[in-house]
Amino acid sequence: MSNFKFKQRKRPISSVSYPVIGEAGNTGSWRIHRPVLNEKKCTAVKKNDLVCLLCWLYCPEACISKTVPPKIDYTYCKGCLVCVSNCPTGALTAIEESTFKEE
Ligand code: SF4
Ligand code: SF4
Repeated sequence: MSNFKFKQRKRPISSVSYPVIGEAGNTGSWRIHRPVLNEKKCTAVKKNDLVCLLCWLYCPEACISKTVPPKIDYTYCKGCLVCVSNCPTGALTAIEESTFKEE
């Protein structure tokens, strides 16, 4: 029993998930709001390096690329806005999807 407890303590105290693009089909059709990147406010763009990238880390659909600038795959972006909530600089803004459909 004590051996079991020791092994538990040695594990990292964090969760790791590996989201899969498109597991629920074309989740882009669910979107009511679209996250849009303002590159001028993005830390990764300003530093021209793979830094920050909290948007990439937290996107549950894995549809933000780990690139400079981060790119959003709107085929699978379901509009949950987790990326907008976690962007520390306000570089991501939620825009109503109807704005784009009227274009
Ligand atoms: S979280 Fe915001 S600032 Fe950070 S890389 Fe993503 S868009 Fe840029
Ligand atoms: S809104 Fe942001 S976090 Fe949510 S699926 Fe789209 S890109 Fe990913």
